Parts: sequence; structure tokens; C-alpha cells
Amino acid sequence: MASIFTKIINGEIPCYKVAEDANYFAFLDINPNAKGHTLCVPKKEVDKILDLDEETYMGLMAFSRKVGKAIEAVIPCNRVGLSVIGLEVPHVHVHLIPLNSMADASFKTKAMVTKEEFTDLAAAIAAKIQ
Ligand code: 5GP
Repeated sequence: MASIFTKIINGEIPCYKVAEDANYFAFLDINPNAKGHTLCVPKKEVDKILDLDEETYMGLMAFSRKVGKAIEAVIPCNRVGLSVIGLEVPHVHVHLIPLNSMADASFKTKAMVTKEEFTDLAAAIAAKIQ
């Protein structure tokens, strides 16, 4: 069965899209640690990041870097942190999280974001992708 992220990539489930190319897709996390928290996903559906072939792994990192730079340009923060967990959704994804403190990286503190804010954040980050 297709993962929830494959359904998002295919447009079967809505998302706040940030970026897409032939092999990768980025969208805002629906339950963000901080405003701008974004997920970067390979279109190829693989559960664990270390099981990706090297080319897809390196491509995912390059794509995440590009999206992370755009987040940095939009969200005032100390830095954008990268985190890979995958215990909830078995489809590789890199979390890009604007960090000001360790609490932002903890996945315990969550930001309240309205639909309007999600829409505006996604558009602002997308506009900064180079
Ligand atoms: P992990 O698998 O790394 O533990 O976390 C999965 C992440 O995906 C969580 O941060 C969660 O909020 C996010 N997530 C789960 N389902 C959806 C969804 O349907 N849409 C979006 N945008 N994010 C999701």
C-alpha cells in the first residue's frame, strides 16, 4: 500500500507544497515543531534512509540543502536543523526545522500554525528556492 507521503506526492492527499523536482518533494510538516518545519522526501518509496541507494541519498541531501537555505532566508532562527527519524511514517523524510533552542528539536514542543500561515509560509519558502 502506498505511504501517506506517496499519496501526498501524487496529490491524493493535500499538503502545503514547498518544492518539487523529478525525484524529490518538499512540504510543510502538518504538526510542526516550529513555523517553517518542512519535510523533504524522495519520490521513491523506501522506509529507512540507510536503505536508499547512494545516488538517491546524496540527491536527497542536496535537495534538502536547497530547501533548508530557502527556509533560512524566510524564518528568523538560529539555524535550520536536519533530523531523520521515521518512526511514524515509513517513507524516508528529512525534517528541516528552524531552531532557536534544543526544545525546537525535541518533537515535544509544537507550534500552532493557522491554515493561512501554512499557506503563506509555503509560498514564501517556495519563492526563495534557488
Ligand atoms: P517521523 O516519521 O520522522 O517520526 O515523523 C513523521 C512526521 O510526519 C511528523 O512530524 C508528522 O507531523 C508528519 N506527518 C504525518 N502525517 C502527515 C501528513 O499527512 N501531512 C503532513 N504534512 N505531515 C505529516
